[in-house]
Amino acid sequence: MTWINENFLKLQAGYLFPEIGRRRRAFAAAHPEAKIVSMGIGDVTQPLAPTVVEAMKRAVEEMGRAESFRGYDDSGIGYEFLREAIRANDYKARGVDIDIDEIIVSDGAKCDTGNMQEIFGLDNIVAVSDPVYPVYVDTNVMAGRTGGPEGQGRYEGIVYMPCTEEDDFVPEPPAEEVDLVYLCFPNNPTGAVATKEQLAKWVDYARRNKAIILFDAAYEAFIRDPAIPHSIYEVDGAKEVAIEFRSFSKTAGFTGVRCAFTIVPKQLKAYKKDGGVVEVGPIWKRRHCTKFNGVSYVTQAGAAAIHTKEGRKQVKKTIDLYMGNAKLIRQTLGEIGYTVYGGVNAPYIWLKTPDGVSSWEFFDMLLNKAHVVGTPGAGFGSAGEGFLRLTAFGQPENVKEALERIKAIS
Ligand SMILES: *Cc1c(COP(=O)(O)O)cnc(C)c1O
Repeated sequence: MTWINENFLKLQAGYLFPEIGRRRRAFAAAHPEAKIVSMGIGDVTQPLAPTVVEAMKRAVEEMGRAESFRGYDDSGIGYEFLREAIRANDYKARGVDIDIDEIIVSDGAKCDTGNMQEIFGLDNIVAVSDPVYPVYVDTNVMAGRTGGPEGQGRYEGIVYMPCTEEDDFVPEPPAEEVDLVYLCFPNNPTGAVATKEQLAKWVDYARRNKAIILFDAAYEAFIRDPAIPHSIYEVDGAKEVAIEFRSFSKTAGFTGVRCAFTIVPKQLKAYKKDGGVVEVGPIWKRRHCTKFNGVSYVTQAGAAAIHTKEGRKQVKKTIDLYMGNAKLIRQTLGEIGYTVYGGVNAPYIWLKTPDGVSSWEFFDMLLNKAHVVGTPGAGFGSAGEGFLRLTAFGQPENVKEALERIKAIS
């Protein structure tokens, strides 16, 4: 007889996006003439930068010749040309010294943020913000680090930190001791960013409690305010307590190409039950190279191309286009009288529903009257109730049209 891993049975059905799809299809079937604009899905729409495409073509040609063909990447953690470009441009240029041995390239920040918990003991207490990117929670449920569901999408044993308007959607470190903390800034779904002072409080908390911060910086490229840190390592002492996740997905339109990386600093330590101290980096690399055989050479060549002069310019242009959308969404909704957050240093706008209308009621109203699809905030956690997430990843003409329609019904 084969036993199933019953931790997987604790997972609540993937409810949010299937339900959005169901309501959208029902509406489309009843109103075939309506042109629905989606501002709901967190996927990019603009094509790859031409420099990236050229670099990938060259790499394919190299792979097609015996003398320049490449098989497995022997390092298992990414080619040096890519890790060196990351070290110099993503970190050194912002005053952060990262060694290329601390950079581990992968095929996605979703996998990295999901897999990282594997190397830590099952009795660690995990803290997440509410609302939250569901990957952090579900992977801990699968691992058996939680009890069963306890309503409102929550699981027993996880510490939820509600993010509200009062705290600018940046949680304070909890009063209790937790061991693993997931933070994501700029945030999906709220679009909030954390200041250096706010991150310093977390670093301080982690150092005091010997906790580790898992810092998801997938949206750092959207930061506009020069005072906002792009990396948690801009805070003194963070290398002792933080792992940072980054991705080419939103930065350079790689959602369908797949490339990301994780920083595990040499100073980062975890503990054994006998009091011994263990360096985390080698254990993550051991896990990574055992279960993963590297990102394709063609992909890594494309990723490195965003760090050329021309590549940087082209990638910035695309991000500027998305942030132009974000600005227009914020402005228009603000003029109509809605309260909106985010959208300044992030591609997400967190819209407060008026008059205590629920997230799903507001979603239905927008779909039925303006033919616009958002994402109900309640789907990201109970503290998301009363909010709707809009994304700035659309085509500008679609965004404009959606906003005109919202204006017309307001
Ligand atoms: C999109 C996203 C990522 C990136 O995931 P990839 O697997 O690299 O495409 C990571 N974290 C958050 C919160 C995201 O929204």
